[in-house]
Amino acid sequence: MRVHLINPSHLSFGVAVITPRWLFVLAAATPSQYGDPLICDETLTVLDPATIAPGDIVGIGIHTGNALRGYELGREVRARGAWVVFGGIHATLYPDEAREQGGAHAVVRGDGDVVWATALADCAAGRPLPQYEGGRIEADQFLPARWDLLQPGRYMWGSVQTVRGCPKHCSFCSVWRTDGQKPRQRASDMVVGEVVELRRRGYRFIALADDNFYPVSLKDLELAERQGNTARLEFLRETRRERFELMDRLARLPQDLVFFTQITMESADDPEFLEAMRKAHIRGALIGVEAVTPEGLKDVYKDFNSSGEDLVRRLRAYREHDLHVLGSFIFGLPSDRPATFDATLAMAVRSEVTFAQFVMLTPFPGTVDFKKWEDGPAREAGAIGGIPVSRHWLIPQALRPKVYVPHPVMSADEIRQRTQGVWDQFYSLGEIWRRSRCVPGVKGRLAFLFISKLYRQMYANTGISTDSARVSKAARWASLLARPCRRLFTAAPMPDLAVPLGGGHSA
Ligand code: SF4
Repeated sequence: MRVHLINPSHLSFGVAVITPRWLFVLAAATPSQYGDPLICDETLTVLDPATIAPGDIVGIGIHTGNALRGYELGREVRARGAWVVFGGIHATLYPDEAREQGGAHAVVRGDGDVVWATALADCAAGRPLPQYEGGRIEADQFLPARWDLLQPGRYMWGSVQTVRGCPKHCSFCSVWRTDGQKPRQRASDMVVGEVVELRRRGYRFIALADDNFYPVSLKDLELAERQGNTARLEFLRETRRERFELMDRLARLPQDLVFFTQITMESADDPEFLEAMRKAHIRGALIGVEAVTPEGLKDVYKDFNSSGEDLVRRLRAYREHDLHVLGSFIFGLPSDRPATFDATLAMAVRSEVTFAQFVMLTPFPGTVDFKKWEDGPAREAGAIGGIPVSRHWLIPQALRPKVYVPHPVMSADEIRQRTQGVWDQFYSLGEIWRRSRCVPGVKGRLAFLFISKLYRQMYANTGISTDSARVSKAARWASLLARPCRRLFTAAPMPDLAVPLGGGHSA
């Protein structure tokens, strides 16, 4: 009997950018009596069903975007006689669906790190429960990933989590509802230990796979102080102190390490934090800009963001600390108008963001937006191929609409075409070459060009296009670009690298 862990994907590129961390964490949560799990990441290659034998246990992790492929795999491996266990955000929200559509014998809800061993033991004994509640475990129970199981030569970046949960409450995001609003921060020992292990193996680019790397803003501290809330103030100060301690230890790792994370825009007003990030080799951050107008920010409950000139000032502040911004913008908000697309593009250029993504408003389960949409417009939208539009992730990929939320002045197709137009302009050769001035030397600039084109092929052309031929062409291009790009990110292994201790010593 073998344990398998599968990350489903309807597109495979041969090489992937970021390691899907959950696969390697659940591998660590698998007791040694079952042997090392067989890991299949379908963003690299599709599952070979012949690897599954009767009595094997197959764990499939899904988010809304890959649920349909996950269900297809679940039914297939169940038909081969395997025990099927689903987990991940989507299965947590829709456990019945995973059983009905994906052939799940069992569903693990919430954090799997601890409860996975129980689910395995029950499957091995032939009597799995229909559901296991993993809940939200404390940070000291988060398991370090089994990086020894990484397939060599396949990934560009490692991924290490430092904090789970986000105190904000954006309307389009499910993180604060699934991972909670209380930040659960890992001890720096655990984080640094994993980073060192990855660097020993030749990974020098690492994504800090956090919900929000900046869980305590200066405003939060001010507010708690004003309210005289001593307990909260103490918690916030301790959380912030631990962030600085972690960054101080990351700063003492080899100089060629490069980290990338996700962060809220309030950090732009915290130069002490940005400086600590710079010293810690954190060179880039995804920032949810979402909208460039005050009305747009109100649409998504993101009043802590800025618009207009203040937005430009804040985004440029990152560049002053050597931080590259991947700005994330949403199109299709109720307050958007045709002019919003050009205005957003112009703002992205003026703010000097290094990369940008332009996504169309999609109601994802677990969000405030989804509930409103499900109870209103989705009811009128009817069904496609017999599947209600309110369950859009179950509609076959080729038939799936690209825009779900009816807009007061623009058609779905207009939003899609204008969004595609903004991607085209932001990632035109001329624009990329102009932006590439942020890296030194011609070689560096060419690498920047390759990476920008890869990013665009992987994320824009495979996601927005309504034309399946264009999607396949983009996937082929991405596969071709991915292999040479991977070489740009890796370095010679450092098998003897020591773990720096707190206080300036090395272990
Ligand atoms: S979008 Fe970002 S800031 Fe908003 S709740 Fe989600 S993780 Fe937090």
